[in-house]
Amino acid sequence: MADYDYDVLVIGAGPGGYVAAIRAAQLGLKTACADGRETLGGTCLNVGCIPSKAMLHASEYYDAAANGAMAKMGIDVTPKLNLPAMHAQRIDAVKGLTGGIEFLFKKNKVDWLKGYAAFIGKDSVEVAGKTYRAKNIIIATGSSVTPLPGVDVDNDKQIIVDSTGALELAKVPDHMVVIGGGVIGLELGSVWRRLGAKVTCVEFLDQILPGMDADVRKDANRIFKKQGIEFKLKTKVTGAAVKGKKAVLTLEPAAGGDAETLEADVVLVSIGRRPNTDGLALDKAGLAVNARGQIETDHDFSTQVPGIWAIGDVIPGPMLAHKAEDEGIACAENIAGQTGIVNHDVIPSVVYTWPEIAGVGLTEEQAKEKGEVKVGKFPMAGNSRAKTNHEPDGFVKIIADAKTDRVLGVWCIASVAGTMIAQAAQAMEFGATSEDIAYTCHAHPTHSEAIKEAAMAVTGKPIHV
Ligand code: FAD
Ligand code: NAD
Repeated sequence: MADYDYDVLVIGAGPGGYVAAIRAAQLGLKTACADGRETLGGTCLNVGCIPSKAMLHASEYYDAAANGAMAKMGIDVTPKLNLPAMHAQRIDAVKGLTGGIEFLFKKNKVDWLKGYAAFIGKDSVEVAGKTYRAKNIIIATGSSVTPLPGVDVDNDKQIIVDSTGALELAKVPDHMVVIGGGVIGLELGSVWRRLGAKVTCVEFLDQILPGMDADVRKDANRIFKKQGIEFKLKTKVTGAAVKGKKAVLTLEPAAGGDAETLEADVVLVSIGRRPNTDGLALDKAGLAVNARGQIETDHDFSTQVPGIWAIGDVIPGPMLAHKAEDEGIACAENIAGQTGIVNHDVIPSVVYTWPEIAGVGLTEEQAKEKGEVKVGKFPMAGNSRAKTNHEPDGFVKIIADAKTDRVLGVWCIASVAGTMIAQAAQAMEFGATSEDIAYTCHAHPTHSEAIKEAAMAVTGKPIHV
């Protein structure tokens, strides 16, 4: 340790980096974490998961009051939007949670190096003009918005914005156009639709939510349409011009054809995110990125340069906070000589719309490519709790191996799908069969009983349909 400043130096304090730093410190390693943001927590806590959920949660209440859902339960209210107060509770949530990470750093004796890090060698970086040498360096620099050529984001003007700008709009737009029918477009499009905006979603592909199970994508599209979101599928945006306080977009069919224009008060560019490696001077460490700009690692998160590791959005795999966290823990454990493993086949994903959409494992299409499958499906309309709560939309679908009955994937659309999917992930982690789930006692009345019924449906014997 003599001439090393740290055993572990983590670059980036998002859910990957801060969790890796805390675990490394817990394991007795002298640890620092560099980040140039004002507050810790990365994209997730500052401008991602947390503020978006604060706006989703608050707007859900507003929508329930405005769209008659509360009236259905005997509560007559006419909601009045106080947008500054809604933003204040978002900012408060961010402040509380980012401050919490600062507390955890102090508690675990992790040094926060305030500034952006750049490599100056294989074992050293420069942060805010100072050089630090570390036995191990973990790159956890995350990702940022993929730009769309011809559609220039300017969050200050609040006309063409990215997800960060869309979280902070000072007024509800009359017409919001969302470019990209992925997770961000649907979550943030839902927020502003609920608060009164007309929302149009332009998606390049023939269906929204790429990567999810086809039944889920189709049903989600139907549900969002019913809620009032208009979709222009198989359409690409090729340009945007800001005229006064409006944007005029040029749209073309994805397969080519006549262009049309579409006017919007606010345009949200949400066509994906790309890894952050600019400014790291990776070449000085002898590292290169792959064709997608990601840093490749082995299963233990080591890169091709001994002593340099990488985790989270900057490496291949789904860009999800919990994936980054689990990789952070495993990576720190591997550095400490333990065996840290992440099962990338069982990473749940959740879209926090109304209803929520969640999945884990293979889609039916992916599973069928690998072999014969059995599928069980159960509608939320048959679930007593969902029915009682006036939440009839959605279903649970379980995909199992036809021969072994082992569960390969679980997909659901339900008000609390994000919570329900945890039991599916746990079951899959333990190698459960659909029969195991079907014969596990589930509390009544809960939405989770729909998972049990879908498991019973794999062998064709659900009770409540
Ligand atoms: P990040 O969280 O991006 O953190 C990386 C950090 O590294 C940043 O703070 C950055 O400032 C810092 N950094 C970059 N370069 C340097 C450098 N050279 N030196 C020092 N520091 C540097 N995921 C979910 O699982 N659930 C959700 O609900 C969800 N909602 C989202 C909503 C939105 C609007 C967005 C944008 C994303 C959302 N995500 C969600 C994705 C999630 O935020 C990311 O997957 C997660 O934050 C990735 O974690 P990370 O640690 O890899 O990187
Ligand atoms: P995404 O990859 O989820 O969706 C982007 C969509 O844009 C795709 O459907 C794609 O086909 C479409 N698209 C691409 N180019 C287009 C074009 N020119 N015109 C029209 N459509 C186009 O990306 P995102 O929604 O920006 O989210 C980025 C990442 O952040 C995702 O990987 C996601 O995992 C993560 N995230 C997760 C959550 C969550 O877990 N709840 C929430 C927000 C973001």
